[in-house]
Amino acid sequence: MEKTDILSLSLEELEQLLVAYGEKKFRAKQVFQWLHVKKVMDFDKMTDISVQLRHFLKENFCINGLFMQKRLESHIDNTVKYLYRLSDGNFVETVLMDYHHGKSICVSTQVGCKMGCNFCASAIAGFVRSLEPSEILMQIYETERDAGTRVSGVVLMGIGEPLDNFSNVLKFLKLLSDKDGDNLSLRHVSLSTCGIVPKIYELADMKLQLTLSVSLHSPYNDKRSEIMPVNRTYNIDELMKACRYYIDTTGRRVTFEYAVIDNVNSSEKDADRLAALLRGMNCHVNLIPVNQVKERNYKTARSGVADFAKRLGDRGINATVRRTLGSDIEAACGQLRRDAGSKGGTDN
Ligand code: SAH
Repeated sequence: MEKTDILSLSLEELEQLLVAYGEKKFRAKQVFQWLHVKKVMDFDKMTDISVQLRHFLKENFCINGLFMQKRLESHIDNTVKYLYRLSDGNFVETVLMDYHHGKSICVSTQVGCKMGCNFCASAIAGFVRSLEPSEILMQIYETERDAGTRVSGVVLMGIGEPLDNFSNVLKFLKLLSDKDGDNLSLRHVSLSTCGIVPKIYELADMKLQLTLSVSLHSPYNDKRSEIMPVNRTYNIDELMKACRYYIDTTGRRVTFEYAVIDNVNSSEKDADRLAALLRGMNCHVNLIPVNQVKERNYKTARSGVADFAKRLGDRGINATVRRTLGSDIEAACGQLRRDAGSKGGTDN
């Protein structure tokens, strides 16, 4: 019989399983806290739990660990990029960023991605599978252990499309924010999506306190469909309607991610159209210099992002330019995993 992935279980689920086994309910909370507060990933070290229960746990549950395959530290800005190997031999990437207000971590939600954005290294490497809640969570726990510090913010902006792994991502968020567990407020979490409209509505209705980031990258349907195939299914009008619903329902501001690419999406005309689209909306634009991937010829001139930010500013749209972190360690998501190959992997 396959063992149950204990790190993916909510406290309630663990309680049910242990009560069914004949244990008292509070034992589940003890185990949960060993895992999610003390981050002890060995049943034998859970010293206030009976030998009999530890034996039961070992027989029936597994702890879905990650193995650090590669660790790259930026000499410029302390960004650390990790390549983690999953229990089935697949790889995911995690990035730890150093901001003045604390450490922020960027986690992956899938092995690869189906969405096919043509500027993105994750999409180019193809889709393998979605991650379990435990595998998303363990990227944080392992990275915190390695760094010897707690993270103060989490962004779901690594490899994968979080809303294409909706139920596991929701479970992960519940585990992360559980008062009896890691207890990180969802106010410090951002979820980035390419724009899977029906899931944006579902997420809005849950009224979680997280920040929704939407990868827009062009205000024109023809251009956006060319670089982001998801736009052929959910176009810009539908996406904007869903974003407005999200803002109205949750009372939270939406962030639009916009990778500035020369000759693709940063002309005066693009600025006009983008400003018209966002005017009056409770939102924020985050401009990113496009990270070059070797398969594509996209680039941004050094001045391109600042020019586009000014163009938006002149039109009354507030935009910030995201700092480029870890530029010496290929921090653009998907590049490490792609270079490592998929299953089995390398040991470099
Ligand atoms: N699937 C989600 C989250 C993962 S991508 C999404 O699409 O939002 C995280 C962010 O990085 C997205 O805004 C994505 O469009 C952007 N991105 C991907 N490749 C990039 C590149 N080469 N340069 C700049 N930004 C990139």
